Amino acid sequence: MNLYIDFGGTSFRYQLDTLPIETVQSNTIDIKIFLDTIIKQYPAISLIAISFAGVVKNGKIVSSPNINIEKFDITTYVKERYNIPLLIDNDLNCAALAEHNNLQVDSLAIFYIGTGFGGAFIDNNKILTGANNSGGEIGHIPFKKSPFKCGCGRDDCLELYVSGHGIETWCNYFNIEKKYRRLDLLETTDNYKATMIIKNFYQGLEHAFHTVINLFDFDNLVLGGSVGKNEKIKKFLEEQFLKTAFKKEKLTITLSSLQEGSLEGTKFLNKNFKGSN
Ligand SMILES: [Zn+2]
Repeated sequence: MNLYIDFGGTSFRYQLDTLPIETVQSNTIDIKIFLDTIIKQYPAISLIAISFAGVVKNGKIVSSPNINIEKFDITTYVKERYNIPLLIDNDLNCAALAEHNNLQVDSLAIFYIGTGFGGAFIDNNKILTGANNSGGEIGHIPFKKSPFKCGCGRDDCLELYVSGHGIETWCNYFNIEKKYRRLDLLETTDNYKATMIIKNFYQGLEHAFHTVINLFDFDNLVLGGSVGKNEKIKKFLEEQFLKTAFKKEKLTITLSSLQEGSLEGTKFLNKNFKGSN
């Protein structure tokens, strides 16, 4: 029996083989107690695969800006205590694996824009991990100075403009009525401050897009997340593609069709990919 876990900033989801997905609040979870309990309850568990909203390297949890968790070698902990293999990778890397399996292509980029702005990249069927498995942090590319600090400590990250949280923060700053605090709703007002938030969002997205296309020359891009999974954004990026430097032949932009990309992706951690493990 396999245990799949998606440990996100807000919710913690898990699934045993193909049983229904269970959801709990992340801040109520102590991962060691959870694993001890569920392994006792289901002694048939023979593999654990985890998608984690933070940086993971060589099976160890290195950092997690949105989850209060002890940084420890979770792989060795489970191996020594239960002799069960454990695979763990960053949540966006897991989502990219799921999208890759879904589309059956060799290379792709994913832009997941929800609360934050995350990305992950698969080139020739391999995740681009970087030296510390912390590559792909598209949301923290410097863009424009802002009056706010990003979770990473900088004040100029793309994520401060291109994300649900970024939009909310700017709306607060400009005192924009609560009922308009969404990208599509901001467009319905003629408030010039709302227009500025939208303009910065698309400028930031354009910056991210051209950076990625110029660096990696992907021919597939998947848009996901509550803000990113949007026909208008897809159209905008298709128009941007026609303006790329060194004209490229083709780019297929797809809106993600996965409900649980990160959790789904854990099922591919032990197949063709090495990821961080
Ligand atoms: Zn940042």
